[in-house]
Amino acid sequence: MDDKKGKCPHCSEVITKLNVARITLNDELWGSKNGYSYTCPSCHMVLSASFDSAVLISEIQKTVESALRKHLRI
Ligand SMILES: [Zn+2]
Repeated sequence: MDDKKGKCPHCSEVITKLNVARITLNDELWGSKNGYSYTCPSCHMVLSASFDSAVLISEIQKTVESALRKHLRI
């Protein structure tokens, strides 16, 4: 069963869970936004990071609303 689970590329431990922490991510397109880092529970190396999807959805809604208001002139 463990052969289908990934291993940490740093310490080679089989990953059965990840530690998740809130962080701030900076990006040219999205600017500074809330996100998460995913770290190995054994060696604490960062394996991945992502924006908070709720924040991105909110940003997309604001952009679409703004474009519609401009287009419809409301
Ligand atoms: Zn590790």
